[in-house]
Amino acid sequence: MKVVILGGGESGVGAALLAKHKGMEVFLSDKGSLSDKYKQILVENAIPYEEGQHTESLVLEADEVIKSPGIPDKAPLIQALVQKGITIISEIEFASRYTKAKLIAITGSNGKTTTTLLTYHLLKSAGLKVGLAGNIGESFAKQVIADTFDYYVLEISSFQLDNSYEFHPHIAILLNITPDHLDRYEYTFQKYIDSKFRIARKLAKEDYFIYYKENPPIEKELAVRNIPAMLLPVSLESEVQTGAYLSNDTLVIRTGSPIRIALDELPVQGKHNAINSMAAILTCRILDIEEVAIKAGLKTFQNAPHRLEKAGEINGVTFINDSKATNVDSVFYALESMKQPVVLIAGGIDKGNDYTQIEELVNQKVKALVCLGKDNSKLLAFFRGKVPIIQETAYIREAVQMGLQLAKPGEVVLLSPACASFDLFKNYEDRGTQFKQAVSDLKNLKLQD
Ligand code: ADP
Repeated sequence: MKVVILGGGESGVGAALLAKHKGMEVFLSDKGSLSDKYKQILVENAIPYEEGQHTESLVLEADEVIKSPGIPDKAPLIQALVQKGITIISEIEFASRYTKAKLIAITGSNGKTTTTLLTYHLLKSAGLKVGLAGNIGESFAKQVIADTFDYYVLEISSFQLDNSYEFHPHIAILLNITPDHLDRYEYTFQKYIDSKFRIARKLAKEDYFIYYKENPPIEKELAVRNIPAMLLPVSLESEVQTGAYLSNDTLVIRTGSPIRIALDELPVQGKHNAINSMAAILTCRILDIEEVAIKAGLKTFQNAPHRLEKAGEINGVTFINDSKATNVDSVFYALESMKQPVVLIAGGIDKGNDYTQIEELVNQKVKALVCLGKDNSKLLAFFRGKVPIIQETAYIREAVQMGLQLAKPGEVVLLSPACASFDLFKNYEDRGTQFKQAVSDLKNLKLQD
């Protein structure tokens, strides 16, 4: 069996190690450059590789190809593989063949990381032998070599689902579907929806499908699809018999004996995080974790940075870093969770944004808008005349200073950009980190005044 791996990041190198471990002939090919760390691992394990190109003749010799989710289907090499009838699978599909652990797979346009981390934390702190993989941390394939876990919590993107066929989670979570990545789906929303629903294609009657009920594409699809698993809706608006829902300020979890958890017992704020938390807690209940263990786990959870993360306080003004909010839907939930007037810092690379979705919330809560981007024309065109004060800058430090000047004590300066970061930053992490640094520096400066 000859396996070719396309892409030498964490998942590709992990897949190479697993394939080698299983006695296959392996070749790894990366069009870009490999990190020194990964090169060393490949050399130590006698796995041949190339970088800087894909040598088509070598790749086309494969019996099976494991493809990095970053490589689009329309790439000529992928087309050539398809034409030759060579199966192309994801690392998730490959790794899942070699584990007996039960899989909890989480997808959605937004909220994957938060829900994955929270679910993992709750299961682990309840004493389960659980691994964390997918888009997060150490490669799934690599972890499967030792396979010491009873469960894996997996963050799954639509690109990984596209090349998965037999991948069979025991619990599948679909948080929401909103237009994203359409460039990879021939600009057809339905294709992206179909891709997300691949998470449920292998579910059987002993499995569980947890989904957010008020998301229109999910609702519409469920009306026409037959998913044989136990369906567990999560609702913000109405009571459900099985599943979970929000009732005033309390989550009601109705799987097994019902439990109630007040919103302020949650470690993550905002309505969106109520959805994420309900999905994570339902998973715990399916796995028979007791209420006390869940509540103890909630107390010790810390979310990943750049998601509604408190960045500091200066003269009574709170600065919040939500740099991960790279689309309009995320900003909607960020604004919805704000109780005080907000100075919003937004902007960057527009991904075809339609701001009408947040118009009303901006109207209610945003007292000033600071546009932080190379080209702010779209934000300006939409919000001019709708927000009392609009300022512009291409420097994050200046944006933070403007925020402080515009906000009064008790108010909030929120970085929730609705856009990608690549015009001024390396990535969203870099944007968030620079924001936090600017807040901390300004705070020190004010203390010296
Ligand atoms: P992902 O891994 O899917 O990108 P994250 O958990 O990293 O999701 O959250 C990304 C952004 O999406 C956050 O800044 C947050 O504002 C927003 N978000 C989180 N959960 C949800 C949800 N359930 N629905 C809509 N937006 C969400």
